[in-house]
Amino acid sequence: MSSASNPISAAWRRWNAVPLWLQILTGMLIGILTGIGMGESAVFFKPLGSLFVNTIKMLIVPLVFCSLIVGITSMQDTSKMGRIGLKSFVFYLGTTSIAITIGLALGYLFQPGAGVDMGDAMNVSATVAKDTPTIAQTIVNMIPTNPIAALAQGKILQVIVFAVALGVALVLIGERGTPAVKVFESLAEAMYKLTDMVMKLAPYGVFALMAWVAGKFGLDVLLPLLKVIMAVYIGCALHIFGFYSLLLVGIARMNPLHFFRHISEAMAVAYTMSSSAGTLPASMKCAKRLGVNKSISSFVLPLGTTINMDGTALYQGVCALFVAQLFGIDLTWVQYLTIIATATLASIGTAGVPGAGLVMLTLVLTTVGLPLEGVALVAGIDRVLDMARTVVNVSGDLVATTIVAHTEDEIDTEVQTQVQTETTV
Ligand code: ASP
Repeated sequence: MSSASNPISAAWRRWNAVPLWLQILTGMLIGILTGIGMGESAVFFKPLGSLFVNTIKMLIVPLVFCSLIVGITSMQDTSKMGRIGLKSFVFYLGTTSIAITIGLALGYLFQPGAGVDMGDAMNVSATVAKDTPTIAQTIVNMIPTNPIAALAQGKILQVIVFAVALGVALVLIGERGTPAVKVFESLAEAMYKLTDMVMKLAPYGVFALMAWVAGKFGLDVLLPLLKVIMAVYIGCALHIFGFYSLLLVGIARMNPLHFFRHISEAMAVAYTMSSSAGTLPASMKCAKRLGVNKSISSFVLPLGTTINMDGTALYQGVCALFVAQLFGIDLTWVQYLTIIATATLASIGTAGVPGAGLVMLTLVLTTVGLPLEGVALVAGIDRVLDMARTVVNVSGDLVATTIVAHTEDEIDTEVQTQVQTETTV
């Protein structure tokens, strides 16, 4: 029988044509049903799940290292743009750390992972240190005495610090850094490709881990996931309509309703595409409608899609707490601060493409020693979360652009009125 007429290969081809997020969701649902049907014997699937978790672990260090260097060196223009680049950078990192704090607060309030103690039952241990280091020790430990050892031992915070420092140095030496930057760009591209390849395993890995978890806990696993969705959506709404509105009124003296009406198109594209990079053309259009001068938007918006990920950081805050609660781990306040620092810096290296935040979540969990098995649970519902967090990422880029333009006196109110009249006519 030729493969064209073989029903199995035809079904396989059809399955492969399904978007990845839908495959993962399907994997999760079939996993839950299988686990409920098989009960504890679904532990049989655990090795397949572990295989997936290990392939993700394999990506973390090289991906973070290369993509952070590329994120920093993409600001080569910063020196040219001077003040504007610095303003945007500070604004982006500042709002990102607020976003993750909101995420942690909501994770604390909603307690999405409480009540299901998977730690003992799943025999998954956290590597959280028993003697928690003081804040001073944590800061001192962030500097790697040997960067190669930090890379080899997967000391994420040290890797981040070294990558940021190396990136800054490469920017400072200008043209002489170009060959090295090109190497890192090409390695980062390869790591994105490898991430794509690994994510193709996600439907099966998520299936296996969900079967294992549902076999152990039955339907009790669903409620925590619903709580995660609720916490992330409420957090995103608060960040966009609360925090950004305050910034718009306070700094740009702009009516938030006016702002959100003008950017609704970009928000809708972001929600459906789950990619801030893919939304860039729509964002450019919206910035123009807001009257932002192109000299500002053409620099601040692409920078934002590369380094500004408020929604992703917020989601990581909720999910880190979710995983900690799920495995019965109490985090110390030093660990909270570590999560804030890691997620903020990690946002620089997060690509504006669907699902990138999930891979970066593994990084945040690793930094504070939380079990990566939690990622598989989140993976099943990740697309739903990705849609909301991408809207925050894109709105944040546009807020920054508007505010920077306002402080530079580069907003043309005439354009706004003109566009408004055009759209109402
Ligand atoms: N999808 C997000 C974006 O493009 C990144 C993420 O996965 O969090 O902005």
